[in-house]
Amino acid sequence: MIFADSGSDYASSKYVIHGILFDGTSSFRTGSRWAPEAIRKASHNFEPYDFECDRELSEQLVHDMGDTEYGNLDEMVTDLEATTSRLVKDEKVPITLGGEHSITLPCIKALAKETELVAVIFDAHLDFKENYLGNEFGHACVARNIVRLGVPLIQIGIRSGARDEYERALDTSVIYTMDQIRRVGIKEILSDIELSAKNRAIYLSIDVDAIDPAFAPGVGNPEPYGLTPLELRTAIRALAPRVSGFDIVEITPDYDMGMSALVGAKLVRDFLFVHSSFL
Ligand code: MN
Ligand code: MN
Repeated sequence: MIFADSGSDYASSKYVIHGILFDGTSSFRTGSRWAPEAIRKASHNFEPYDFECDRELSEQLVHDMGDTEYGNLDEMVTDLEATTSRLVKDEKVPITLGGEHSITLPCIKALAKETELVAVIFDAHLDFKENYLGNEFGHACVARNIVRLGVPLIQIGIRSGARDEYERALDTSVIYTMDQIRRVGIKEILSDIELSAKNRAIYLSIDVDAIDPAFAPGVGNPEPYGLTPLELRTAIRALAPRVSGFDIVEITPDYDMGMSALVGAKLVRDFLFVHSSFL
């Protein structure tokens, strides 16, 4: 099954959807490798037309290249960077469906070779660990590895992390915690980001646990007190015009009744509607 309304051929498409069947460093709840299939299924729930953008999704040149399955982290990191580089060279906007959050680093590496990037991540967790279960490229280390790559990083929705992660994050990146968002509102923070990102392209990564588990309980590491799906849509609408790569990660479909995959599919569709309005 392909993502709804993404039946354009590769050559003529602007957007390429790629599912990554990998959750090899997940710890608490595994199963995000089943997310691409669940997100695709959920995508068929929605109408192809968007009122706000006055657009039909099927006319927006989206190609679904299917899934790639990886047995181990090293293989995933190397191969996904190569695949994403090919998409970037062909002037596509990669839309990568995880899988766990470790898939973001190779996607960013591929884009950073071609363009001045800033990474914007929505996440409950800092993901600034030096090492996770013996591996420095695990899903809980992704933010730290992006900073080590030299790509400026902004994280939004943060409400969990160890003290050493918090200190490292404050030293080397910009974070907006959930408490800050509740004090000043998401819109204020988004205009801050637009200023601080200057003229760089944005790589946008959505760890679905940024959303409150009341709306999206099927995630690897659920964390209460999160964003609403509408706040995330507001963010996507504001940032989408400058986004050159997008991913959505950490949905574990076995742990809910399909809500998280529905929210994930809806966010992908909203991204496509808004981004294509600015082409
Ligand atoms: Mn994460
Ligand atoms: Mn997270």
